[in-house]
Amino acid sequence: MISTNRKPRAFAPDPAAPGQGCDSPGCLLEGGFRAPKSRTNLREFHWFCLDHVREYNASWDYYKGMSAGEIEAAARADASWQRPSWPLGQNGSAAKLQEAVEAELHAFAFGSERPRAATRANTPPELREALEVFELVWPVSLDTVKATYKALAKKHHPDANQGSKQAEERLKTINLAYATLRAKLA
Ligand SMILES: [Zn+2]
Repeated sequence: MISTNRKPRAFAPDPAAPGQGCDSPGCLLEGGFRAPKSRTNLREFHWFCLDHVREYNASWDYYKGMSAGEIEAAARADASWQRPSWPLGQNGSAAKLQEAVEAELHAFAFGSERPRAATRANTPPELREALEVFELVWPVSLDTVKATYKALAKKHHPDANQGSKQAEERLKTINLAYATLRAKLA
C-alpha cells in the first residue's frame, strides 16, 4: 500500500537546485541537495550531492541540542591537534563561537580537509606545498587530484573572477601544484 501522507523527503533532489556542482571541494557530482549555510542564516545554502549533503547533515546533527559550552568543548577536543590557535580561547564571544562552530561543521562536512596526524607524517616532503594548495591530505589518488584540480581551476579562472590578477596568480599556483602532484602520481 502506498502512503499518501509522506513526510517531506529529506534527501529528494531540490527542484530549485541551481544546476551547479556539489560544493564539496573536489566533488564533481551535481549539487542537487541543499543545506543551510548556518543556523543563523537559513536562507543561504550549500548545494551538495547526496553523499555530501548526508555528511553535512550528519555533522550538523552532531551539535544538535548541545549547549554552547558543550559545543565548544566538543569542537575543541576534536580540533585541538589540528588548530593549535583555536580562536575560542581568546574571548569566547558568541560571534566567535558561531564562527568556530561553522568552521568545525565545515571540517566535518568535508572530511578530506581534516588532516590525520598519522598520514600527515608520511606525506612526501616535495608534495606538501602542492597538497596544501589543493587542500588535500596525503595519501591522495590521481582521480582525487584531477577532480580537485578541475574544481579549483574553474573557481579561480580569471573569467570567473572578472579578470582578477589575483585569480590569475592563484590559478598559476594551482597549475603548478597540479603538475607536481600529477608527476608523482601518474
Ligand atoms: Zn559531493
